[in-house]
Amino acid sequence: MAIGSLEAAFALQRAAFAKDRRPSIDLRRERLGALIGMMLANRDRISAAIAQDFGAHPVPASDLIEVLGVVGRAQHVLENLEAWMAPSPRHTDPAMLGTAKAYIEYQPKGVVGNIVPWNFPFDLSVGPMVDMLAAGNRVIVKPSEYTPACAELLAEMIAATFDSDLVTVAVGGLDLARAFSSMPWDHLLYTGSPAVGRQVMRAAAANLTPVTLELGGKCPAIMTPGSVTETNVESVIGTKLIKSGQMCVSVDYALVPRAELETFVTHAQSFMARAAPNYSRGDECTGMISPRHLQRIEDMLAEALDRQCRIVTLEDDGQVDRETRRMPMSLVIDPSHDLRIMQEEIFGPILPVVPYDDLDLALDAINAGERPLGLYVFGADAALTDHVLDSTHSGGAAVNTCAIQSALPSMGFGGSGMSGMGRHHGIEGFREFSNPRGVVVRGEADLIDVFYAPYAKAAGLVQA
Ligand code: NAD
Repeated sequence: MAIGSLEAAFALQRAAFAKDRRPSIDLRRERLGALIGMMLANRDRISAAIAQDFGAHPVPASDLIEVLGVVGRAQHVLENLEAWMAPSPRHTDPAMLGTAKAYIEYQPKGVVGNIVPWNFPFDLSVGPMVDMLAAGNRVIVKPSEYTPACAELLAEMIAATFDSDLVTVAVGGLDLARAFSSMPWDHLLYTGSPAVGRQVMRAAAANLTPVTLELGGKCPAIMTPGSVTETNVESVIGTKLIKSGQMCVSVDYALVPRAELETFVTHAQSFMARAAPNYSRGDECTGMISPRHLQRIEDMLAEALDRQCRIVTLEDDGQVDRETRRMPMSLVIDPSHDLRIMQEEIFGPILPVVPYDDLDLALDAINAGERPLGLYVFGADAALTDHVLDSTHSGGAAVNTCAIQSALPSMGFGGSGMSGMGRHHGIEGFREFSNPRGVVVRGEADLIDVFYAPYAKAAGLVQA
């Protein structure tokens, strides 16, 4: 889409919004119903487009996360929308003598933009659209240039389902992305890297556009002493296998009690032998999104090898397949802190396994870095896992499991500090894309005029 067309699409939506600033609940339900129908009707095409863009991608994973996950979100909203849209009554001032009314009403914000990354092309475009439409907004989505097949399909699906003055898709490259973040949106959602998030927020600041930033970071899995069991290691490695680690809430590195390091490695090896023995050659594996991204992960591993790190490849004879960009899963044992795998978000199938001697010192090291998007703690002792939660800060967290906090339709999802700001999913998402307008309706007998001259009227009240 040319920048001029984007501006025209925006003007069209603004004009349509001005004609219906408060869509009825029935209309919103109808829109969400159409969205569900659109996702279910295009189920197979969605999986095929994702596989095309990634080189390889397991169909059940696309179906579960990108189709059924989004449908589940919409169904949750449909069940709760009436309650969420209801005005929220508030206490009035004593001077109103109980005769006035005060309430918060959740108004639509208007025309909302959504800049989407490549890793979940439907979950992060149509998913937030659920919250945006539920809140009564109009939406323009900009997919990533790394997922052209998904962007084309999304544009086609949306055009066949919604009028362009309600929802439209702006497909284009970096110039369009920059222009997109400079538009005077009523709200802008950006999902992607913190570096670009900073540029987006700077562009939005020129218009004082409110932003939701869903960013990344290094999510730790903290194994408390005694927690390195088969089930827990399976949860860590299994999560890392999703999208070959190209997931913002993936486990970035594992912190393991030094005495249990070898047990962790053994359980990881036996899980992979059981679950995905030929991982990088099989249907379970997702390819790296582009040759450049594959090269980045290979360079990280090469650096660890150069520095004489112990690398455990969780697959016999695992090789990189250049055509589909699939690669084996590797553990890097006890890496030094200055390696790229310990400095950057990995976003690929490498798991640093970092031994620790003292849990509190390990927590101090996490707190010395940026606040992660997700933090995972394993252990049977609830007092200890609570201690870990109480001693750390992150966008979301999970105990004895990983990443699922990002996928519950009922629970707001987002970051903290460098991993982002604001929330989508659930009632938090509905409120994020709403303007919580505070309204007071004056009562018959209230004394609200005490707040302006002549103040002699207030004397009695103030003394009382
Ligand atoms: P990216 O920042 O490179 O690109 C994301 C989007 O931003 C694309 O649509 C792109 O066109 C657009 N873009 C690029 N430069 C821009 C600019 N200057 N101005 C405006 N828009 C611009 O991110 P990515 O590589 O696509 O995604 C990976 C990152 O996203 C990781 O850090 C990951 O953790 C994060 N992520 C976060 C979440 C979350 O919900 N918090 C979810 C998925 C991914």
